[in-house]
Amino acid sequence: MSVERLLPSAEAHDLIDLTREIADKVLAPIVDEHEKNETYPDGVFATLGQAGLLGLPYPQEFGGGEQPYEVYLQVLEEIAARWAAVGVAVSVHSLACHPLNAFGTDEQKAQWLPEMLGGTTIGAYSLSEPQAGSDAAALACRAVAVEDLGGADDGAGYRVTGTKAWITHGGIADFYNLFARTGEGSQGISCFLVPAGTDGLSFGKPEEKMGLAAVPTTAAYYDKVFLPEQRRIGKEGQGLQIAFSALDSGRLGIAAVAVGIAQAALDEAVAYANERTTFGRKIVDHQGLGFLLADMAAAVDSARATYLDAARRRDAGMAYSRQASTAKLIATDAAMKVTTDAVQVLGGYGYTRDFRVERYMREAKITQIFEGTNQIQRLVISRTLRR
Ligand SMILES: Cc1cc2nc3c(=O)[nH]c(=O)nc-3n(C[C@H](O)[C@H](O)[C@H](O)COP(=O)(O)OP(=O)(O)OC[C@H]3O[C@@H](n4cnc5c(N)ncnc54)[C@H](O)[C@@H]3O)c2cc1C
Repeated sequence: MSVERLLPSAEAHDLIDLTREIADKVLAPIVDEHEKNETYPDGVFATLGQAGLLGLPYPQEFGGGEQPYEVYLQVLEEIAARWAAVGVAVSVHSLACHPLNAFGTDEQKAQWLPEMLGGTTIGAYSLSEPQAGSDAAALACRAVAVEDLGGADDGAGYRVTGTKAWITHGGIADFYNLFARTGEGSQGISCFLVPAGTDGLSFGKPEEKMGLAAVPTTAAYYDKVFLPEQRRIGKEGQGLQIAFSALDSGRLGIAAVAVGIAQAALDEAVAYANERTTFGRKIVDHQGLGFLLADMAAAVDSARATYLDAARRRDAGMAYSRQASTAKLIATDAAMKVTTDAVQVLGGYGYTRDFRVERYMREAKITQIFEGTNQIQRLVISRTLRR
């Protein structure tokens, strides 16, 4: 069942229609096979890129779609409702474009943004390390400044050594946002843009995950990787500020993905409840089950409203960090509850792989963990309440 959306322009309606068409024709027919076999969907991101869906919230000047964030998020929700792994990867790509767009120099933007937003490349975001997830300031990967020695030398820049963890699209992405230590403490972290194929950069084997199996998550190993000085985004030591700024936007992406998963689970549960009969009537007509479905629908609607409120604040240039954390918290907890209840609605069949609801439940779980666990979202929100 298509969600009837309140959108700000005719162009936004066209974008939603286009996304639904691609979701129906390109994503829906192959999602089950790729998630089951844990195979990467070659060509899917190229299709999304050609349709202009990989740079939606970014300036047209650099090849983006210049759409309000509320429109981008609803497009993302539509993609995630068909294929969560693809929705997450699109959201992470957008996250990886944020540092350059918001903190890069005019020269850096002109040089790299068009190809990042143009739909032919895909990006990854590399903040976490094996020992530093929630506590991002504990990261240890080091970027040591090296001088220009003249002659055939590489020039001034950095040599990066260390291990990054949990990279969505690791080993496949075309560029990596890297956060590495150039000094001590939380002010000693800097942001870099690393092209795939750089000498000394290698990747681990894909993690064996509970869900999102079609898009790999890997570690990255930096072995004295040389990055020219112009590959640093923002000032030296500004990295954590850049990382958190990107995450405010990224968390809204994860909230939209979570709502997409929850909507898909609700749709399947409603369809099933209108078919299945027990005790001589459709199960939707048993009030106990009808109320369960009503709570699921209310959770999806309110989660969507929460991320839209944060997005509209962002679009209006207002502060939205707290609302982004609230949206991530509310939407992902709603997705976990709704998908679990969808399994309940389908009874024993819900527990089998013959129906998609068990996958939705596995996919919902990660949305409560990445881009800041929901404990960390509560930390962000509670800090704004301190007098
Ligand atoms: C599938 C997947 C994809 C990912 N993709 C990316 C990616 O693309 N890029 C990237 O950089 N990272 C990525 N991550 C990493 C993800 O962001 C981290 O796993 C997450 O931030 C949690 O960090 P951690 O796993 O180290 O857990 P920890 O930080 O060790 O936390 C363990 C537990 O302790 C709780 N906790 C920690 N500190 C506090 C506190 N102060 N108060 C209360 N509770 C606390 C946490 O909420 C959690 O429940 C991905 C992870 C997964 C699983």
